[in-house]
Amino acid sequence: MANKKYYVGIDLGGTFIKGGIVDDEGKILLVEKTPTEKNKGKDGADAVAENIASLVKSLIQRQGLTSAEVVGIGMGAPGMIDSGAGVVMYWNNMGWKDFALGERLEALTGLPVRIANDANVAAIGEVKFGAAKNFNNAIMITLGTGVGGGIVVGGKLVEGNKGAGAELGHSVIVFGGEKCTCGRKGCLEAYASATALIRDTKRAMEAHKDSKMWEIGSIEKVDGKTAFDYRECDVYAKEVVENYIEHLACGLANFANIFRPEVIILGGGVCAEGDNLVKPLQKIVDREIFAGKMGPQVPIVIAELGNSAGLLGAAALWM
Ligand SMILES: [Zn+2]
Repeated sequence: MANKKYYVGIDLGGTFIKGGIVDDEGKILLVEKTPTEKNKGKDGADAVAENIASLVKSLIQRQGLTSAEVVGIGMGAPGMIDSGAGVVMYWNNMGWKDFALGERLEALTGLPVRIANDANVAAIGEVKFGAAKNFNNAIMITLGTGVGGGIVVGGKLVEGNKGAGAELGHSVIVFGGEKCTCGRKGCLEAYASATALIRDTKRAMEAHKDSKMWEIGSIEKVDGKTAFDYRECDVYAKEVVENYIEHLACGLANFANIFRPEVIILGGGVCAEGDNLVKPLQKIVDREIFAGKMGPQVPIVIAELGNSAGLLGAAALWM
């Protein structure tokens, strides 16, 4: 097995650091988890770097490898990451600012380190090993609390200056529309996140006391599934779902026109709807994209890597 290559993938979260040994075929050979760190700010950041380094050493040892057999450490991290410099420019929850995590980790482990934002890491992971395997041009949109974006062109991540680009969720689809968390109005995130879907479901219920959605008991019980669950028996739920899908389709058609990817990957909680989401979306995107059926088609698919996305994507930063 002398020619086999190994990578350490790290998925850095606010509560846990997950690490794994990944081989060049995208197999996760070993996984280990450790708490991130309670202390915030500068001291906390140093402690996190040390926790990651211990995790890396433990993984390499348990797998029976030497550092020389490991190509590098890849890491997905939250917040704003200057991936070229390996610097976490800003991580709000942990109070980090301009922390040179990559450099620190290289000093602690003796291994080269690559870091990228976790939405970008998920996108490159899906392209190398998941739903967009065999494609080189893909867009990934994550529909969760917010709307995350990842762009892969020619098999490479497109992150913009200091990794601050690819914020696809913050492109405006309704000028002067709903307020977004970023301060703008009318962003895709303000219409297509699970948060927005829940907001619109609640509004529909408040406006229509005769809606069947009230069967769930109270408005606090609304989640991202409520409108989808009732869309066939309740006209107001149907309206919420259609409205959600039309807005999301508008964003996807915009990205399709800019990048004309081979595939658009959807991730995040709302994707649990599967075909209920993808089929109507695809219909609108097919109709809306420039040159329609005359141009190359843009299939919409659901992400495949699930819980492994963080580790595989992180390792893929080296592939
Ligand atoms: Zn925004």
